[in-house]
Amino acid sequence: MGLKNSFISFFVKLLQSIKNLFIISVSERFKNEFTIAVHKYNISRVKATAATFIVLEIVIIIMSLVKNEYQFPDICYSGMYVFLLTSMVIYLLVFIKLGKNIVGNSTIIQVGGISFAAVILYWCAGISLLDQVHYGQIIVYVTALLAIAVLPLFSPLVLLSIYVPCQILFVALLPYFQQSSEVLFGNYVNSTTFLVISWVISRMRYLNFVEDFEYTKIIQEKNNELEKVNRELEEANRILEKLSQTDSITGIYNRFVFDRTMLTEWDRCRRHSIPLTLMMIDIDFFKSFNDNYGHQAGDDCIRDVARLLRASAQRSSDVVARYGGDEFAIILPHMEKEEAYQFAEQIRKRVLELAVPHEYSSVSPYLTISIGVHTLVPSDQSSIEEFIETADQALYEAKKSHNKVVCL
Ligand code: GH3
Ligand code: MG
Repeated sequence: MGLKNSFISFFVKLLQSIKNLFIISVSERFKNEFTIAVHKYNISRVKATAATFIVLEIVIIIMSLVKNEYQFPDICYSGMYVFLLTSMVIYLLVFIKLGKNIVGNSTIIQVGGISFAAVILYWCAGISLLDQVHYGQIIVYVTALLAIAVLPLFSPLVLLSIYVPCQILFVALLPYFQQSSEVLFGNYVNSTTFLVISWVISRMRYLNFVEDFEYTKIIQEKNNELEKVNRELEEANRILEKLSQTDSITGIYNRFVFDRTMLTEWDRCRRHSIPLTLMMIDIDFFKSFNDNYGHQAGDDCIRDVARLLRASAQRSSDVVARYGGDEFAIILPHMEKEEAYQFAEQIRKRVLELAVPHEYSSVSPYLTISIGVHTLVPSDQSSIEEFIETADQALYEAKKSHNKVVCL
C-alpha cells in the first residue's frame, strides 16, 4: 500500500515537473498586461527583423542579377530571395498597422508573430536543403533555429509548435538533397542538437521575462500602495495640524496659534521697526447672556462675534484668535495707534449692528463688546509680556463702562 502511494506521488511530481518544463504562466491578475508587453516586444522584433531582411535580400538579389545566376539551384535561390523579400515587406507593413492597436489586434499579433517566425524558419530550412547540392551545410537552418530562440518571445510550447513540424519536414526532405549518408547523419545530429539547445535558451529567456515582469508589477503595486498610504498620512497630518491650531467652537485660531504668532510677529516687527497692534476683545455681560438665553445661544453668539472679527481683519498678516472664554485677540502688524483706534471702533459698532438681543445688558438692548488696544514699535527696551499686559489693562479700562474702546 505504502509502495503504491509513494509511486503515485512520484508519478504526480513527475507530471508536475514535465508540465512546469513546458508551461510557464504568469499570475492571472497580470495576464492582460503581460500579453500586451509580450506583443509590444514581438512587434518591435518583427519590424526590425523584417527591415533587416528587406535590405539584405535587395542586396543579394542585385548581386544574383549581376552574376547572371539562372541555372539550378541558383534559379531556386533567386526565387527564394524574391519570396522572402515580398513576405518581409508584407509583414513589415502589417505589423506597423497592427502595432497601432495592440489590445484590439491581440490574436492577430499572436498568430502573425508565430507565422512570421515559421516563414523564416521554413525559408532557412529550404535554403539549407538547396545548400546540400553545393556545400552540404545546414548553417542557415541552425542559425534560424537560434535566431528564433533569442529574438522574439515565445512560450516554450508555442516555440515547439514552430520547431517540431519544420524539423520533421527538414529531416524527411534532407535525403533527397544530400546523397552522402555521413553528411546526412551529421546534419541530422547537428540540427536536432541545435533545436534542443535553442529551445532551452528560449525557455530560459521566457521564464526570465515572466519573472521580471511579475517582480516589476509587484514592486509597482507596493509603490502605489505606499503612495496611497503616504497621501492619506499627509491628509491626516494636514487635518491634525489644522485641528491643533483651530478653536473647535468658532473655527478661528486658538490660543496656541496666538502665542506662537505673538512671538514671531513681535520679533519681526522689532527687527524691522514696524508698529504692532494688539486688540483684546471681550463680550459684555456674557455670563448673564448665557444664564438667560442658554449655553447653546451663548455658543452661537461667540461664533457670530468670531465670524465678524475674522471678516474685519482681512490682511494676510492679521491673526484673529480666541483667547479663551468670551475673549478674543487680534494681532495687527503694521497698524499705527490712530488707525488701530478707528479699526477697533468699527468693530465695536459692527457687533452692535448685529443687533443680537441682550435684555440683561446694563448698557444696551443688544449684545456689545469692549476692546482694549495697545500699539507699539517693539524694541529691545520693551517686552512681549508687558505688551500683552498693557493691552489687557486697556480692556480692563474699557470694561469699566462696557461697549467701549480704550487705547493705551
Ligand atoms: P464682562 O462684561 O465684565 O465681561 O462680564 P461677563 O459676564 O462677560 O463676564 P466674563 O467675561 O468673566 O464671563 C465669561 C463667561 O463666558 C463665563 C462663561 O459662562 C461664558 N463662556 C466662556 N466660554 C464659553 C463657551 O465656550 N460657550 C458659552 N456659551 N459660554 C462661555
Ligand atoms: Mg465678558
